[in-house]
Amino acid sequence: MSDGSVDIHKTHFTSEIGPELDGKMVVLAGWVESIRKLGGIKFIILRDKEGRSQITVPKSNSVFDEVDKLGKEYVILVRGKVRKIEKAPQGAEIIPEEIRVLNTSVSPLPLDPSGKVDANLDTQLDNRVLDLRRPEKTAIFIIRHEASKAIRDFLIKRGFIEINTPKIIASASEGGADLFPISYYEKEAFLSQSAQLYKEQMSSVFEKVFEIAPCYRAELSRTVRHLSEVYTVDVEVAFNNYLDVMSLLEELISHVFKHIKKNCSEELKTLNRELPVPKTPFPRYTYTEIVEKLQAEGIEMNWGEDISTQAYRKLGEMLRGLYFIVDWPTAGKPFYIMPRKDKPEICESFDLMYEWLELASGGTRIHKKDMLIERLKEQKLNPESFAFHLKTYDWGMPPHAGWGLGLDRLVMVLTGAENIRDCVLYPRDRDRLTP
Ligand code: ATP
Ligand code: MG
Repeated sequence: MSDGSVDIHKTHFTSEIGPELDGKMVVLAGWVESIRKLGGIKFIILRDKEGRSQITVPKSNSVFDEVDKLGKEYVILVRGKVRKIEKAPQGAEIIPEEIRVLNTSVSPLPLDPSGKVDANLDTQLDNRVLDLRRPEKTAIFIIRHEASKAIRDFLIKRGFIEINTPKIIASASEGGADLFPISYYEKEAFLSQSAQLYKEQMSSVFEKVFEIAPCYRAELSRTVRHLSEVYTVDVEVAFNNYLDVMSLLEELISHVFKHIKKNCSEELKTLNRELPVPKTPFPRYTYTEIVEKLQAEGIEMNWGEDISTQAYRKLGEMLRGLYFIVDWPTAGKPFYIMPRKDKPEICESFDLMYEWLELASGGTRIHKKDMLIERLKEQKLNPESFAFHLKTYDWGMPPHAGWGLGLDRLVMVLTGAENIRDCVLYPRDRDRLTP
C-alpha cells in the first residue's frame, strides 16, 4: 500500500465461502473462536458477523507453527485458498498462506463466547461485548433490528411521518412519580417518560406521526419486564378513534411476526423459537370481563383496581397469544384518555397483551381543552404546568387517537426471552448503570 498502512480489508465474509469457490484465493478477517489440533492438522474456527469458516493448517503448511501463538478472540486476517471438502461444515475450508494477527486478547477471558461454559446474567451483562458474540445473543439483536425495520417500513407505507420529540423536558408529561430529575444549567429538568404530549400536538400538523425512541421511567421495583430506559414505538393519528388505532396495531404486529418468520429463520432456529403468525383481529376482552375471569380463578380484586403482577400471571395461563383488554376504568388511565360518552367511568382505551405481558397501551385522546383541564384536576395535576400543551388546543386540535408499544417487550415475545435485559444491548435498571 502506498501510504504504508497495513491492509486490513477482506475479500469475503464467511457466509460467502462454499465449494463453488474451490481453488480461489480469499481474504477473511474476524475472531478466533476455537483452535483444535487433530493428529498432524490444526483447525482454526474463524468467526465474523455472518458466521464461521474452518481454516485448516496441515503440518506441511508454512504457517503451521504460528497457529500456536493464537488465542481465543484474537482478531486475525487470513489469506488463503478455498478447498472444496465435503466433511467441512460449509463444504469448503481455507488453506492459509498467511495468518496475520491484527489484535490480541486476554487469557482467560471473563466469559466464554462459544457458550460452552454457562455464565450468570450479571457476568453476561458486565462483559456484554463478549456475551453478544454468542450466537443465541447475536440472534436476539438481529431480530430486534429486523423488527424495527419492519415497523418503520409498515408505518411509512401507510403515510406516517417519522418525528423526533425532546427527551429533556421541563415538567412531567403524564404526572406520576416515576420521573428522573436532571440538572440542566441553573434549573431542574426531567428525562421524558413518554412522547405523549408532543406526538398529540404533532397530530394537529402531520395527522399521522410515529416515533421510535427511548423514554425514561424511574421504576422502583425489580422485575423481568421493567427497565429505566425503554424504547417505545409511539403512534398518533388525527381523525381516528381507539378502534381505528387498535386495527392499525394488530395489523402492524402481524406484519412484524410475518417479517421475522420470513427473514430471521436462522435466528429463530438458533433460539429454538416457533413463531406462529397471529390471526387478526386479536381477541378482545373488556376490563370488566377480565376482572370476572380473575375473580372466578380465585384472584381477589375489585372492579376499578389495577391488575396485579400475580393476576397478570394468572391471565397468561388462561389466555394464550395476543389479545386486547379494552374499556378500562377512567380513573386508572392517564388524564388525556377520552371517557366514554354513555358511561364516563369507562374510557376509550386498550392494552395489547401477550399472555401475561403488556405490550402496548392506547386510546382515543381528549381533544377539547375544557375537558382536558377538568381531567387534569381530577387526577390532581396542575393545569398550569401543562400551559405549553393546553394552548395548542386553542389552535385547532383534531380528534385523535394513538398508542405506545414497548419495543423491548415486543422483542421478548419475538425471541422468547424471559428477561427484558436479554433484549437490550446495555440495559439500565435500578441496580445497573454500567457498562
Ligand atoms: P407497566 O404497567 O407494564 O409498567 P405502563 O402501563 O406503565 O407499563 P405505558 O405508559 O402504557 O406503560 O407505556 C407503553 C408501553 O411501553 C408499555 O405497554 C410497555 O410495553 C412499555 N413500557 C412502559 N414502561 C416500561 C418499562 N419500565 N420497561 C419496559 N417497558 C416499558
Ligand atoms: Mg400501559
